Amino acid sequence: MQTLEEVLERYEAVIGLEVHTELTTLETKMFCGCKLEFGAEPNTHTCPVCLGLPGALPVPNKAAIESIVLAGLATNCDIEKHSMFYRKNYMYPDMAKNFQTTQGPVAFCMRGHLDLEVGGAAAKERHGLAGAKAGDAFENVTVTEEGYRAHVGITRIHMEEDAGKMVHVGGEEGRIAGATHSLVDYNRAGTPLIELVTEPDLRTPEEARLFMQKLRQIYLTLGISDCSMEEGSLRCDGNVSLRRRGSTELGTKTELKNINSFKSLHDGLLYEIRRQAQVLDEGGIIYQETRHWDPSAKRTIVMRVKETADDYRLFPEPDLAPYDLSDEFISRVRAKLPELPDDKAARFQEEFGLSAYDAQHLVEHRSTASFFEACMADADKKLAKPVANLIINDVTAWLNANADASLEDSALTPARAVQLVGLVDAGAISSKQGKEVFAAVLEEDADPKAIVEERGMEQVSDTGAIEAVVDAVLAENPDKVEQYKGGKMGLIGFFVGQCMKQMQGKGNPQLINQLLEEKLS
Ligand code: ADP
Ligand code: MG
Ligand code: ZN
Repeated sequence: MQTLEEVLERYEAVIGLEVHTELTTLETKMFCGCKLEFGAEPNTHTCPVCLGLPGALPVPNKAAIESIVLAGLATNCDIEKHSMFYRKNYMYPDMAKNFQTTQGPVAFCMRGHLDLEVGGAAAKERHGLAGAKAGDAFENVTVTEEGYRAHVGITRIHMEEDAGKMVHVGGEEGRIAGATHSLVDYNRAGTPLIELVTEPDLRTPEEARLFMQKLRQIYLTLGISDCSMEEGSLRCDGNVSLRRRGSTELGTKTELKNINSFKSLHDGLLYEIRRQAQVLDEGGIIYQETRHWDPSAKRTIVMRVKETADDYRLFPEPDLAPYDLSDEFISRVRAKLPELPDDKAARFQEEFGLSAYDAQHLVEHRSTASFFEACMADADKKLAKPVANLIINDVTAWLNANADASLEDSALTPARAVQLVGLVDAGAISSKQGKEVFAAVLEEDADPKAIVEERGMEQVSDTGAIEAVVDAVLAENPDKVEQYKGGKMGLIGFFVGQCMKQMQGKGNPQLINQLLEEKLS
């Protein structure tokens, strides 16, 4: 198979996501009073409504409606004041009712969007950016200093309910293949679920991953779900098709079902794009089918060919009246909106002069955003950029390398971070030494100043002291000075090295350089 880059030279990848989120922070299920509890004893939270027993009547959970309106407002959707519930009919053992209550053509939230800030390595996946300048705009993209901003449409967010859970016994890893029998737990049946559907506006696996990460941060900020991909409260389906560059028609898509990690979303889409390209290149055709991404085998396999909408015989739910939202209800929900990650990023840019990309990076995780704010609470504003760099580079790398670590529980307090950055900023230590001190703070649970002192790292920035060393080095090497003046400029490195050596590595390299250049010119 060809690499993504090779494929994207000739084909455009078109991606749309369907994101399911359980509203885990609510007390009760969507249409009954059963308690929501993950990991409870199987079949202990059920009743005639969520089991679909004859004659049981559903009542919508108002708190769930509030949550979906919050989600809609936070993703720039129009809130529909009149919508209805529908029955989506199908038979499967985890669905005792034999239908799922969901919404029809009009959902509570319609026509939203999110903007993605794509930079660094992630921006390299997008085709056609080479040679573009900041401010250039094409398709749904605006080029920025660090990469580009992509505008991603949200078709809708509708309200529905989750199914129960099947447990397959006797096979490998709880898989259905090879199982001797299956059990079903209806505790999850009827859990309030919101489904967000994007327009087919995404173009790379990185954009898809960033969209999911951004959405997760928004939902977490709203407090409407714990968004645990591991426990399945946040899951997504990735739809993807290819078309020849220049074509505006959509190709046939495949759908990767129930993806449960950001990495799987990225890697699954990446594989699928390369697989489809190979099929098309060989003159084959893509079937509209549902596929499963197997992270260990690193490939996708067919689950089933696509059922059409007709198969579900979607019709209005006769047991539920059309749902009307009042202006008053909507404005009450709007008043509850917290500061969202994008607002926070805009504030960071405004207040601290950070770039859009840095600000977005900081708000990607609530812990890094609040750490930055704690740092800046009483630090000089000129330290904002170096503090942001410390968090975005060093802290993030450390967190990535230590899966169990958390910033809150680490030895790096906001005060220590500011102190460390301040030492580098004042020239007391070099930025290279700063990295060493950073590691030592985490390891030894000590203040940066104490570490610098104890290790005798204090950089010499006293001009007089440095000048004496520079003069001595130049006097000791008259031949090299001649060669330098004769055009062998590379010798500057030799002089810097000699000065550093005499100062046991503690001389401020910028000052040494500056003085050498002055004296040699
Ligand atoms: P389905 O009826 O198969 O569920 P939808 O029209 O509801 O398809 O779209 C589901 C998701 O797939 C949406 O996110 C949409 O943007 C995306 N999508 C639709 N058509 C395509 C396509 N040809 N290629 C890629 N994504 C697509
Ligand atoms: Mg669909
Ligand atoms: Zn119930």
